[in-house]
Amino acid sequence: IPEYAFIGRSNVGKSSLINMLTDRKSLAKTSGRPGKTQLINHFIINDSWYLVDLPGYGYARVSKTSKKKFQKFITNYFEQRKQLVSAFVLVDIRHKPQPIDLEFMQYLGESGIPFGIIFTKADKLKPQAIDRQVENYCNVLLKTWEELPPYFITSSSKKIGQEAVLSFIEDTNTEINALQ
Ligand code: GDP
Repeated sequence: IPEYAFIGRSNVGKSSLINMLTDRKSLAKTSGRPGKTQLINHFIINDSWYLVDLPGYGYARVSKTSKKKFQKFITNYFEQRKQLVSAFVLVDIRHKPQPIDLEFMQYLGESGIPFGIIFTKADKLKPQAIDRQVENYCNVLLKTWEELPPYFITSSSKKIGQEAVLSFIEDTNTEINALQ
């Protein structure tokens, strides 16, 4: 069954987003403490697809060796998952594009892995500021990409964007089934 992987910098709001998408508050535990989600978690949604929770990256205070280890772990995952349909890279909507996220998207692109961008914590900005941030992000992406990836504006605390992300996935699954 198709898999969709969720990944992003630690503290980006991944656990909260997964809780929102799965509607089960206790499923993926949120942590104020970065680095708590270490392993890969799978959640089956509607008996029809897997939501894959990948560990957060970009801890400021880890050694070079554990950074390397982490990269290997992640690249192993992406190389082995035949069922992976798309990754979602989470970015905090308040931050300007971060090199680590852009590099990760570059890696996905070079590996032929489709991805979307999920902007998190939209409740922290006013609508105008959201537009500005998203526009800026898109402009930066267009410097290296010919096309923009699908993107979603979300807030887990205000339940924004749940429907958009879920219907994107359901629609993609429908397309895949039609092709089979
Ligand atoms: P993770 O480390 O990426 O899994 O991030 P968490 O889901 O644990 O969230 C990190 C912090 O950001 C926590 O303090 C959350 O309460 C907060 N947070 C997560 N999502 C949102 C959101 O949509 N809005 C706001 N205001 N805070 C959020």
